[in-house]
Amino acid sequence: MKTKDIILAVEGLTVSFNGFKAVNDFSMYVDEEQIYVIIGPNGAGKTTVLDLICGKTAATAGSIKFKGRELSKLSENQIVHAGVGRKFQNPSIYENLTVFENLELSYPQARTALSALFARRDQAMTDSILDVAQQIFLADFLDVQADFLSHGQKQWLEIGMLLIQNPSLLMLDEPVAGMSVAERRQTAELLRRIATGRSVLVIEHDMQFVENIADHVQVMHQGKSLSEGSMQKVKQDPRVIDVYLGH
Ligand code: ADP
Repeated sequence: MKTKDIILAVEGLTVSFNGFKAVNDFSMYVDEEQIYVIIGPNGAGKTTVLDLICGKTAATAGSIKFKGRELSKLSENQIVHAGVGRKFQNPSIYENLTVFENLELSYPQARTALSALFARRDQAMTDSILDVAQQIFLADFLDVQADFLSHGQKQWLEIGMLLIQNPSLLMLDEPVAGMSVAERRQTAELLRRIATGRSVLVIEHDMQFVENIADHVQVMHQGKSLSEGSMQKVKQDPRVIDVYLGH
């Protein structure tokens, strides 16, 4: 099997908030088409790592190389244009618009709501929207106002709004929080499909879900990397067991 190239290399990443190191000399290497999951107790620094990668927070030290390009000096917008998509825990969809319109607004050429809603729809855009809607299990909901979707469907719609921009790296913060068992299963299927052609970086607490999807797991604790490898390997690591059982 051909080994995959590294798409994201994070090295020595550190950020201090008033002298407190929330992320402390943290490194990670994400391969192309890999589903990479960061786990760890609350306050470990997981969300802050994603904030640093997407430019929401500035690092105190370290480097973040994406496809060989240093991201840490770029703005949030430039990082999006470089091909990094980020989904936060709460979906930021337009509740009063339909599924189709939400996807349309996220299409790269739709710069403003007005241009998206009144411009003539070209075939390529319509095809992309239909393709993404199919992937996110919402092909039969295109005309439904987002407000009426279930919690899980709203999460998928937001993933779709990122997918339509075709990022090479998609970062998801607790994608299955609040979802039903069936929705979790579908989300695992969705992430598997998404990871063909792009990398997916996930923070997740649901260990069953992590076990289902992760190609690689990294455990964070107190801003540092505690353990990494397959889920099978890290769950047997005594340091990880200690942290989770609070010994
Ligand atoms: P996790 O996602 O693993 O639960 P976080 O990355 O949210 O952890 O937080 C790590 C630590 O950094 C926590 O102690 C949190 O209170 C602190 N922290 C995060 N962001 C800030 C901030 N903007 N200012 C001050 N402290 C912060």
